[in-house]
Amino acid sequence: MNERPAITCRIDDKHVPLYNILWIAETPHFCGDEECTAEGLYEIRLALGESLYGSRRDRDGAVSALQQWRGGDETEW
Ligand SMILES: [Zn+2]
Repeated sequence: MNERPAITCRIDDKHVPLYNILWIAETPHFCGDEECTAEGLYEIRLALGESLYGSRRDRDGAVSALQQWRGGDETEW
């Protein structure tokens, strides 16, 4: 692949710089709060204590964007 890896990924309706992502949830969010709007979505934790919640597709896209950004699919980290 000759394309340069993207340094942003799309979460929900936002383009998020990969270097702002601290971690990405493996399992969907569940807290049981009736007013929670993030149930069943995947948490993407950002620097500065913010979190975004995205669909499974958003989450998978973010993970693979990060893996490519860090130097290729074969890199474990
Ligand atoms: Zn919740």
